[in-house]
Amino acid sequence: MSMNTTATTAPAWYDLALCAQTGPAFFFPEPGSSLRDAKRLCGACEGRAACLEYALANDERFGVWGGLSETERQALRPRR
Ligand code: SF4
Repeated sequence: MSMNTTATTAPAWYDLALCAQTGPAFFFPEPGSSLRDAKRLCGACEGRAACLEYALANDERFGVWGGLSETERQALRPRR
């Protein structure tokens, strides 16, 4: 995931975000490349549940959030 860290609207869980320390390139890998490393980082992240909830609530389409790829998140999203 990627978020402007200078924004005052960053959600509270962002303080827990491990990926905030690695930079956005980590979570937006080239299409077709492995998401394994990003997912491993998410697995150790204390903000994971809140991160995933945020991504689903905000309909985030790109990158890994809360340990899930966009395809995996789409499967969780209610159909409209
Ligand atoms: S769960 Fe993953 S994407 Fe979400 S804040 Fe943590 S490290 Fe970043």
